[in-house]
Amino acid sequence: MALQFLITEHSRRQAKALFAPLFCPISRSFSRHLSGSKPPSFGIAFDIDGVLLRGNTPIGGSSEALKRLYDHSGTLKIPYIFLTNGGGICESKRALELSKLFGVKILPLQVVQGHSPFQQLVNRFEYRFVVAVGKGEPAAVMSAYGFKNVLSIDDYAFCFDDIDPLASQKKWVVDKTSDDRDSFEDQARRDYVKSNKVEAAFIVSDSVDWSRDIQILCDILRTGGLPGSEIKLVQQPPLYFAHDDLEYKAAFSTERFGMGAFRIALQSIFNSIHPNPLQYTSVGKPNRSAFKNAETVLGHLYDQRISEHKFADISPFKTLYMIGDNPSVDISGAQQAGYPWFSILTRTGVFKGKGNDSKFPADMVVDTVEDAVEYILKKEGSS
Ligand SMILES: [Mg+2]
Repeated sequence: MALQFLITEHSRRQAKALFAPLFCPISRSFSRHLSGSKPPSFGIAFDIDGVLLRGNTPIGGSSEALKRLYDHSGTLKIPYIFLTNGGGICESKRALELSKLFGVKILPLQVVQGHSPFQQLVNRFEYRFVVAVGKGEPAAVMSAYGFKNVLSIDDYAFCFDDIDPLASQKKWVVDKTSDDRDSFEDQARRDYVKSNKVEAAFIVSDSVDWSRDIQILCDILRTGGLPGSEIKLVQQPPLYFAHDDLEYKAAFSTERFGMGAFRIALQSIFNSIHPNPLQYTSVGKPNRSAFKNAETVLGHLYDQRISEHKFADISPFKTLYMIGDNPSVDISGAQQAGYPWFSILTRTGVFKGKGNDSKFPADMVVDTVEDAVEYILKKEGSS
């Protein structure tokens, strides 16, 4: 039995509609928007949390800074993207949110999230049964990428009685009625889920319920994908994290634990109960692949700006600026990526020092993102 009913037709249509723009070539109208005078030989990648936003509040003159990258008619003139480890929603939805927050038109293509590289795993897992973990809409994100047999860990947990002994204490998760539980579809779904191996787990965004998610992930990983079955030394199903940020700057006055902290907790527990150490892969910043992908995306924007044909292997960029607040993620990543990356560290988030970071010194340190954009445009003669 295919698992098609796990993703309702409605949610599939919704995900497709939400995400379609990411896969569409940039329209000619956007190309026309980009056409203009001498094309710039530089691009910019902005981190979001702690640079442009704190929670949902713009900081550091971010709206004004972004507006400088458009001409007086609101047309984009400098290729830039958001390169964030955040996520949990589709890129197209995030682009709409960011457009509203900053008052500029942002395309889905300009939003590169921590989980965006999971798209490259579609060929391997397209029809395989996988579980997606995290806040927001992790399963919708994955199905929008092309994964056809994906279930959120919320829905997965719902299929097993008593898998989380604390569930009754968690008022926020008890939102399915007994009628749901008794319906034919849910019964069929539960039977399918309980008898089919989970072939991979993807941590798409921050786990909302660490105790439940660590428990269920350990169940999946040490039984070869069948919680409740005998624990044996089988091949651990692959485990992917969208990123490995230990901490990040949110609305609270001090840093909050990120996905890297969740990974440490899971790893520590798994390694305490299982003879073989946890195996996992993290994508997102500071991995070199995240910066390579960012360069490719910026190249797509650029291609459309100066001509209709592709640049092939030749990068049009002499400099790519990474503006971030976290030395161990944004700055370290740009440094590892090497040419043509140039790192700029702001003091509005994780880093607040007077000088430069001692472990991962940036090429330039400024107070705010507005200062960073001012510096770039002056240096490039585009102000
Ligand atoms: Mg940040």
